Amino acid sequence: MTFSRLRLENVGRRFAGVDALQGLDLTIERGEFIALLGPSGCGKSTALNCLAGLLPLSSGRIWMDERRIDVLAPERRNFGMVFQNYALFPHLTVRRNIEFGLRMRRVPGPEIRSRADKALQLVHLEDQAGKLPGQLSGGQQQRVAIARAVVLEPAVVLMDEPLSNLDAKLRLEMRTEIRRLHQSLGLTTVYVTHDQEEALSMADRLVVLRQGRVQQIGTPEELHSQPVSWPVADFMGCRNLFPGSVLGSVPGRSTSTMVDVSGHRLEGTTAAPVETGETVAVGIRPEDIEVVPAEGTLEATITVIEYQGREFAVEAVTAQGIRLHVRTPARLAAGDPVHLRLPAERLLIFPGGDDLPRPVAPLEATS
Ligand code: ATP
Repeated sequence: MTFSRLRLENVGRRFAGVDALQGLDLTIERGEFIALLGPSGCGKSTALNCLAGLLPLSSGRIWMDERRIDVLAPERRNFGMVFQNYALFPHLTVRRNIEFGLRMRRVPGPEIRSRADKALQLVHLEDQAGKLPGQLSGGQQQRVAIARAVVLEPAVVLMDEPLSNLDAKLRLEMRTEIRRLHQSLGLTTVYVTHDQEEALSMADRLVVLRQGRVQQIGTPEELHSQPVSWPVADFMGCRNLFPGSVLGSVPGRSTSTMVDVSGHRLEGTTAAPVETGETVAVGIRPEDIEVVPAEGTLEATITVIEYQGREFAVEAVTAQGIRLHVRTPARLAAGDPVHLRLPAERLLIFPGGDDLPRPVAPLEATS
């Protein structure tokens, strides 16, 4: 089935009066790799299951070009599904598992064989075709699940946390494998994950969900450089996030704003307009904080150091109890006093910091 775009329009799903997903608007171009990303319970699987037809919508519509598909039964949507638990038939061989959908569709025998051969080759399992799923490793089982989905040449492949049962090394390998299959077969893929690194490394665009609502949709670069809210920044690796209060704008610099964070006056850049006195979320990435010889933005004391390849992941605490994560090549020791510079263009200010946790006071006073 060819199509040029898949469109979700105001899609919502309620469970017992509670909105698991609300107002999802998303257009997916043919050939795109889209990741649905967010913490546990944010509505990712609900969105995927609505798209697959496994869950009826409470509101909204889904279109494939001009054709409305949310009214179609799952098997008539021509979507392939790959689940976290593989969902293979344990009593069927790898080949039979892959052929199953083709047999159900009454595809002629010789064609079944040749399509299954091709799918086995694609996932590098030619020599495992006669084994049962229980005789395979987790990664091999997941490959069978992927082959079983793509052998049907679906319009769209939907994947729900397909790598979460695998160990770290295999996860990395399978990321590349899935992306390779996506490209070589020209698939359109919607991929659910709570792992932001996985989403960033695989997807063309990401949809960040929180509490059933879209927070932001964009390319990995857009979400990394211009997160619109603190939960998105948090997901994009902005580990230092604090509640602050707006002191006022900086004359002559339209996006610069002064904020108070636990008694520290800091200059930052606003993602959206904020009012003086408003509670905001103030964030900076560990790699954007600089360790300087003197006259930094903040003075702090090093509390924890972890060696991480070329750099150190350092935790530093200010006298007011702000705990900062810093990535630095500088060789430091626990107890060292440091000057930290927080560049104004890297210090991000987001509206709505009321629901951020307050900074925890250090156990020992540091000055
Ligand atoms: P996870 O990563 O933990 O799977 P998720 O982001 O995929 O989470 P969903 O499974 O979509 O989240 O769930 C979204 C919300 O809807 C949750 O609060 C969940 O408890 C609720 N929910 C999901 N399915 C049902 C159901 N069948 N009945 C009632 N509530 C449900």
